[in-house]
Amino acid sequence: MKVEMTTILETKNLNYVYEGGKHALRNVSVKIPTGCKVAFVGPNGAGKSTLFMHFNGILKQTDGEIEYDLKKVDHSKKGLIQLRKDVAFVMQNPDDQIFNVIVEDDVAFGPFNLDLPMDEVRKRVDDALKMVGMEEERKRAIHHLSFGQRKRVAVASALAMQPKVLIMDEPTAGLDPEMVHRLYEIADEVNMKGSTVIISTHDVETAYSWADLVIVIVKGEVLAQGTPFEVFSMRDVLEKAGLSVPMVHELNEFISLNKGTNIYGRTMSTVLLNLRRACAPGTLYVMRPGYSGEMHGRVGMYGSASRSFVEKNAVDAPIRFNAIERCIEDVLNGNDATLYLDETLDHVLDRKLLDVAAHGITIMVEERR
Ligand code: ADP
Repeated sequence: MKVEMTTILETKNLNYVYEGGKHALRNVSVKIPTGCKVAFVGPNGAGKSTLFMHFNGILKQTDGEIEYDLKKVDHSKKGLIQLRKDVAFVMQNPDDQIFNVIVEDDVAFGPFNLDLPMDEVRKRVDDALKMVGMEEERKRAIHHLSFGQRKRVAVASALAMQPKVLIMDEPTAGLDPEMVHRLYEIADEVNMKGSTVIISTHDVETAYSWADLVIVIVKGEVLAQGTPFEVFSMRDVLEKAGLSVPMVHELNEFISLNKGTNIYGRTMSTVLLNLRRACAPGTLYVMRPGYSGEMHGRVGMYGSASRSFVEKNAVDAPIRFNAIERCIEDVLNGNDATLYLDETLDHVLDRKLLDVAAHGITIMVEERR
């Protein structure tokens, strides 16, 4: 999603003291640009959840200001209903959020309360359950599901609201590795439709490659905010926050120092760029769901429609997750690759191709539909 320069959420010197005296947020001033992908990182107890609960009005600041869409958050009942139509919050623990017995009822609850026509509610529930891969469990009792499945239901309930801002508090904790990748793919899809996506995470690797903006918070204070590259270059901040340096960042720094080059990227494909000898890149074949002609090299898929096409047609696609990145790696290694890609996600590919082009390498892309 192209980041616009408007601000969707802003806090100014926000303080929050819990009953009992815990001063959980200290003069927090952050600006979240509209359409941005934001990762909050920091140790447990830093105040991330407390801040998120201010974003959708569950908590009201002790002092300072918070604005949504350039207006002060209105904590009246009417104001909060309006705010929560736009700002969906997936809590860290799904059991704090889910209160229906049956999966599909929980997902339908939000849209139903927006007074949407029943057909629209049904469609939103179907789409949301499909996105998180829970459509087959839709009639099941939630308390029979595993933790990871309950978390997916909580995410689906938020997706069904089609929020302008989707906030997910440690969304990947408790999910299996496949679902972790899938979740970031979903976040990209939501972002592509124009929503701002905010997450908290301990996973610095993904924060580094996924986010547009990284905000480090420690003991209730914001220690740094900036691009992933800026923030993860601040070793003193990382040390204070107990965060490790993303492997890709470290590798690139190391190679650049040794080769005297200056290539710092956010993904493994940039590491490869930095390492590569003079080998001609392969061609990237971009297939649209529905196309079933000849494949070239390894096959991957990115996006719900592509995933659904590949699965329905039993296409032999070994690259199931993080497929744009993996396919570019193959191509940079001199092989061809085939990427089933939803047209709505072209910008994710375009951005990576631009990264590569910035290093003087043009990847040939051929589209098939
Ligand atoms: P994070 O999400 O970064 O792990 P939290 O926002 O959950 O951090 O917590 C920030 C601080 O506020 C911690 O010291 C935590 O113990 C405290 N805290 C969280 N919830 C409550 C509460 N309901 N009552 C009192 N203190 C709380």
